[in-house]
Amino acid sequence: MIVVGGGLAGLSAATALADAGLRVRLLEKRPYLGGRATSYALPDGSHVDNCQHVTLGCCTNLADFYHRVGAESKIRHYSRLYFADRNGSVSSIYSSPLPAPFHTSFSFLRFGALSFGDKRAIARAMFAIARSGGRPADAPGVSMLDWLRRNSQTDAAIARFWRVVLVSALDEELDRTDAHYGIDVFWKAFLANRKGYVLGIPSVPLGELYAGCREAIERRGGEVKTRAVVRAIRLSDGKFQSLIMDDGSELRADACVTAIPHDALPQILPEEIKNRAEFAGLSRLRTSPITGVHLWYDRDVLEKPFLTLLDHTVQWIFNKSMLYRGAGKSASVPSRELGQYLQLVISASYDLIPRSRQEIIDLCVKELHEVLPAARSAQLQKATVVKEVNATFSPELGSDAFRPAQKTQIANFFLAGDWTRTGWPSTMEGAVRSGYSAAEAVLAASGVPRKVLVADLPAEGICRWWAKE
Ligand SMILES: Cc1cc2nc3c(=O)[nH]c(=O)nc-3n(C[C@H](O)[C@H](O)[C@H](O)COP(=O)(O)OP(=O)(O)OC[C@H]3O[C@@H](n4cnc5c(N)ncnc54)[C@H](O)[C@@H]3O)c2cc1C
Repeated sequence: MIVVGGGLAGLSAATALADAGLRVRLLEKRPYLGGRATSYALPDGSHVDNCQHVTLGCCTNLADFYHRVGAESKIRHYSRLYFADRNGSVSSIYSSPLPAPFHTSFSFLRFGALSFGDKRAIARAMFAIARSGGRPADAPGVSMLDWLRRNSQTDAAIARFWRVVLVSALDEELDRTDAHYGIDVFWKAFLANRKGYVLGIPSVPLGELYAGCREAIERRGGEVKTRAVVRAIRLSDGKFQSLIMDDGSELRADACVTAIPHDALPQILPEEIKNRAEFAGLSRLRTSPITGVHLWYDRDVLEKPFLTLLDHTVQWIFNKSMLYRGAGKSASVPSRELGQYLQLVISASYDLIPRSRQEIIDLCVKELHEVLPAARSAQLQKATVVKEVNATFSPELGSDAFRPAQKTQIANFFLAGDWTRTGWPSTMEGAVRSGYSAAEAVLAASGVPRKVLVADLPAEGICRWWAKE
């Protein structure tokens, strides 16, 4: 059994198949595992994430994967979310003892950055989502922005609430986002279950989370090969036969899961199947960018572990020094002497892509001065900008139609990747769901069907009844 691609989709497929007793060979092009959710070494030996990654309580399959590979203790959970307005005044969202879907409503009522009118409009739209069990009748076929306008949202509610949550969660602007993806975020993360919104943040660089994958695969006699570039897939009699590697060698296997990005797959597919209906939609999936900015200050400028900014270009600030503190022995965690290390994230960063590195740093530093008074007198010691132009696939209106299933028409050839049909947007959870679904399809085709996918968090309280209706 071969799995191509060592991102979360490939790693989750490979470890699930190894756990089911299969001998798996995992091939990854780069020298390290993790794909887009990884970290790399700086010249001083410390490691930085290509971009901060966070998970939520509703990401049940990712949690299962972390458990499977022994990484769950490296994820810290935060049940209070902080938001700063233009002047740095902070409001937070947290849970009260009230049952779902009302558990965060007390903190929401106290949220300083929204007026009473904004809150009333938001509460009405949230009720429409909850009452329909996450499937409002007026959502199909419209963009998120159109749905919000139809549901009488004020400009401030859109800019300071809906956009803030959704651009970060979906990496796309509201007018380009299919309403069903946006609504799903609120249903799963904020309404259906009290734990859905709880933020999970790694306390170590991302690359350290995958150490257990190699062990899980090798324990079953399998192999993990990095710097292994697949150039072509070969079929025989309509079935998968082998892979042609970069060095010209041929690797045969009884079955194959490819878990590489959607724009890389057509380059290795055989000519005779490239134009089949199941692969034809790949060229129609668009991507959207994320920009990560790493700043090292000579002293502490942020007291909180993270902060979401309203009315700014910068969307999130992560206090990496604090998030890594107490991580235990980790050679790749930057040392405390460096002062404070912050990671800033800007999703759907279309406007930043053409800008120079220095312009982006200047803009971020200016915005930090507005919200963090301590940053004004601190010295910026080092800064890096990472532009991921094709960070995620865009959850555009109708994009679901272009996402193929994990089981293909070729009996022993399967697909994984966050872009395959999972119902989830381009996220780590989506990637793991695709890997688990591909593993289920492999096991079913091998005559040993087994459940790998983990259930969603259950809808609680009155949401349970509304979800059933
Ligand atoms: C900047 C950024 C921030 C993000 N933030 C978050 C976040 O906070 N939360 C969240 O849930 N998600 C986030 N995401 C999305 C998340 O990273 C992805 O959805 C997920 O990692 C995708 O995993 P994947 O395995 O499907 O694809 P990938 O990670 O792209 O893995 C594909 C792998 O295939 C390998 N490969 C490609 N071609 C070949 C070949 N020919 N031969 C061998 N190997 C090959 C690649 O090297 C790569 O390792 C973010 C993404 C980015 C880029």
